[in-house]
Amino acid sequence: MLSGKLLAGKTALVTGSTSGIGHAMASKLAEAGANVVLHGLMDPTEGETLRQDFEQQYDVQCLFSGADISTAEGNEELVAVSVEKFGGVDILINNAGIQFTAPIEEFPVAKWDAIIGINLSSAFHTTRLLISGMQQRGWGRIINIASVHGLVASLNKAAYVAAKHGIVGLTKVVALENADKGVTVNAICPGWVDTHLVAAQFQARADRDGVSLEEGKRSVIVEKQPMPKATPPSSLGDLALFLCSDAAATITGISLPIDGGWTAQRSTFR
Ligand code: NAD
Repeated sequence: MLSGKLLAGKTALVTGSTSGIGHAMASKLAEAGANVVLHGLMDPTEGETLRQDFEQQYDVQCLFSGADISTAEGNEELVAVSVEKFGGVDILINNAGIQFTAPIEEFPVAKWDAIIGINLSSAFHTTRLLISGMQQRGWGRIINIASVHGLVASLNKAAYVAAKHGIVGLTKVVALENADKGVTVNAICPGWVDTHLVAAQFQARADRDGVSLEEGKRSVIVEKQPMPKATPPSSLGDLALFLCSDAAATITGISLPIDGGWTAQRSTFR
């Protein structure tokens, strides 16, 4: 897609970039020349190895942080080490997230609090702490990884759907507040992406139906997506890179599905 070092001189912070979608996005941004703050729940030794691998592979500077961003303090720590190392953050991708499924009457309170904290409140904290620097520099990109569940609901996902609808709303407000400041703020809304986050759901279906993991995966996907395949994490990386490019300078406040047609099926009467 976009080629060349179009992000040389920029610094990107990608929360939850030790695996899955975040790792793919961090890779694309580093490939485009951005210095990257790698972040996620990972053993510090493995985190250091990941940091070194990125620096060698992409010839950029990297930092690893294992801050737990389920609390305000964890987000403050993550931002503080990022700013200390790089002087500021130009591209913020709020990606870290967790999932838990249960009917509302059985939904554990601790799971609700954790999902709201990690999937929604973290984006509030990182944004409130980093937006002033972007405004002062007159350039910034904030990309919030929402989900189709920021646009539509599914059974048994009360906390996740609430958090993802919340982050879509947060995206719109911060976009409006920064529309004349060179800072764009957008949400990406993936359907199924084959990562650790959804592996348990695929495995549970395979176990329930006594079929292979591949068949279980397909069975889960086609329930919601007309397109019977998951989006590869690298496509999310390409999309994030596009939103960071000059071509996307007037795209702000959107919630962009990348979902194999999932949300094309929704009623217009909502
Ligand atoms: P993943 O499980 O592969 O990665 C999640 C990342 O978040 C990891 O790096 C993990 O360490 C980090 N993380 C989790 N809890 C944390 C905490 N308390 N503190 C710090 N880091 C923490 O999942 P993924 O599929 O790559 O998900 C990334 C984002 O994409 C999530 O916000 C998810 O909701 C969203 N999403 C995923 C899918 C999908 O099908 N996989 C679909 C739509 C949206």
